[in-house]
Amino acid sequence: MTCNYIENYELKNHTTFKIGGLAQRVFFPETIEQLCELLQTLHNPLVLGNCSNVLVSSKGVEQDVILTSKLNKFEVANNIISAQCGVKVPMLSKEAESHSLSGFEFMIGFPGSVGGAVVMNASAHSQSVSDTFKTCRVFDMETKKILELNKDEMKFGYRHSILQEKNYILLDVKFELRPLAKEEITAVMQRNLDFRKDRQPSLVLPNAGSIFKNPPNDSAGRLLEKAGVKGLKEGGAQVWLGHANFIVNVENATSKDVSLLMNKMYNMVKEKYTIKLVPEVKFIGIKSKEEEDLWDTMLNQK
Ligand SMILES: Cc1cc2nc3c(=O)[nH]c(=O)nc-3n(C[C@H](O)[C@H](O)[C@H](O)COP(=O)(O)OP(=O)(O)OC[C@H]3O[C@@H](n4cnc5c(N)ncnc54)[C@H](O)[C@@H]3O)c2cc1C
Repeated sequence: MTCNYIENYELKNHTTFKIGGLAQRVFFPETIEQLCELLQTLHNPLVLGNCSNVLVSSKGVEQDVILTSKLNKFEVANNIISAQCGVKVPMLSKEAESHSLSGFEFMIGFPGSVGGAVVMNASAHSQSVSDTFKTCRVFDMETKKILELNKDEMKFGYRHSILQEKNYILLDVKFELRPLAKEEITAVMQRNLDFRKDRQPSLVLPNAGSIFKNPPNDSAGRLLEKAGVKGLKEGGAQVWLGHANFIVNVENATSKDVSLLMNKMYNMVKEKYTIKLVPEVKFIGIKSKEEEDLWDTMLNQK
């Protein structure tokens, strides 16, 4: 194996929630070839990007972990941007701006990687990853082969792509953007940043973005606010006072604290509106029996 790894790595250092236990081995591939070699040889590894949409278990993870942060190369050719899976999206947004290319203005506001953004079909401010997506290469963990997928094959939907159905690992992507005057792009990016200022906690208060997905034709934040969850606390985790669909880690919160709080939020909306919210944040790693039950309720909509 040509890729170095770190043993007993504390995953909380890498997550925007600052929650997460130990991984026995964490690999940091620096080339796509190294990533593919790891995917060929490791048994069922867990691939993570910037860990901004995950709740990592405080008990840690059993599998080997691959973090994509060093797969950060990209290229701009005319209006096509090609990026490896570990490129940070705010950086890509700035790069597109500097080349007078429109389509990534929404990416300025959230701390994801290209891999996580494609998996989740990240979106905001009326733009989404699927708008500019052209093609990508994935590693199929079943056949151990590299596939090229076009936009139709990606089955993009709200916070959904085929990568959530199949065991595919995103290697790199090509996006097609639209030429536009730089001043117009800069103005939209600034507007997007201003919009977030009081509607989203900064990462000084560790968080993982929106906790629940919006139900059809409604807003999870609105329902949660009306249900009265703002300020509720469970251990070191608290529903942010500025917006009811965010949980902030105020004091050494654990994955159990967050899971309990999410369950309370889920039940309060269910009782008031008979609407069952669906978690947007993904639980990663070893679940205690209690966490198993809490997540079973939310994921199976009980
Ligand atoms: C303050 C804040 C604001 C946010 N605002 C928004 C927003 O406006 N809109 C929005 O859509 N999201 C938002 N998010 C959520 C998050 O930033 C995005 O979903 C982001 O795209 C996730 O990227 P990531 O690299 O952090 O993914 P991770 O959290 O690392 O991973 C998410 C999932 O993708 C998988 N994954 C990651 N990389 C790969 C890969 N290469 N191949 C296969 N699977 C992979 C992981 O296994 C995991 O299941 C916000 C988060 C925060 C903290």
